[in-house]
Amino acid sequence: MGRYHDLSRTFIPTSYSSKRVCTHCLGATVVIELVDFHKAYGSTIAVRELSFSVAPGQILGLVGPNGAGKTTTLRALTGMIPPSRGDLRVCGFNVCKSPLEAKRRLALVPDDPQLFRELTVEQHLAFTAGAYGIRNPDEAANQLLTQFDLIEKRHVAAGELSRGMRQKLAISCAYLINPEAVLFDEPLTGLDPRGIRILKQSIQARAEQGASIIISSHLLAMVEDICTHVLILNRGQQKFFGTIENLHREFGSDDQLCSLEDIFFAATDSEMLEAASAS
Ligand code: ADP
Repeated sequence: MGRYHDLSRTFIPTSYSSKRVCTHCLGATVVIELVDFHKAYGSTIAVRELSFSVAPGQILGLVGPNGAGKTTTLRALTGMIPPSRGDLRVCGFNVCKSPLEAKRRLALVPDDPQLFRELTVEQHLAFTAGAYGIRNPDEAANQLLTQFDLIEKRHVAAGELSRGMRQKLAISCAYLINPEAVLFDEPLTGLDPRGIRILKQSIQARAEQGASIIISSHLLAMVEDICTHVLILNRGQQKFFGTIENLHREFGSDDQLCSLEDIFFAATDSEMLEAASAS
């Protein structure tokens, strides 16, 4: 368990779950780190000189309008696309130079998970466990299937699952490897209210166990609800990075800017947050 620091709402784990095996990360202050990340597709600059970090226990909300560079950032962190410049690290391992070590500690849940249509729910978990060298995965797999209401579907092929069930299966596979870093791209898409509640609780529980989490989402109320930190991107540029409390402290005195939604529109419609972000 742990506690939240009063001012920053940063979760500070006082002990790590016995399941956490990454000795590289124990005591680490940073799990995910981007330094001067820059990505260009030809003449299109998708992300400019982006630097931020996520510590154990922190949940970062990555927000920005379409084309802001959110997916590019998540894909670069997983090693799916190479950066044009800059360093991306997971648990200290450079994603480009030590891809296996970095990927071993990270899971991405994309907004539209690509599953194997013919494989059953249970076979997806077995495949994931095999690929990541997870020993005796059955108990953990069953717990996840129960947690995400998939236990009765365990023998059903992924091609026969609903959109929300596929999403829950992708989340279960991600959690099965017990990663130090979990990246979610629009994780609530397709989930029913019960699924949304279960996922939000599971994200907070993972963070309490010391995982670092990034959630890319347009659902600003959800970001405000469960994230400890927020990163606002606009046209590839960082407009704000910090705790939710700092965001409100900076802008909350103005009655016109009281919710994350208000601040989001102000940040992405104008350049008003540049000064605050730079300070
Ligand atoms: P977001 O996820 O915030 O909507 P993206 O990271 O998908 O934004 O895109 C950022 C910018 O990079 C956009 O201008 C987009 O058109 C461009 N982009 C993304 N992927 C490619 C690609 N494969 N080739 C060329 N341009 C791309």
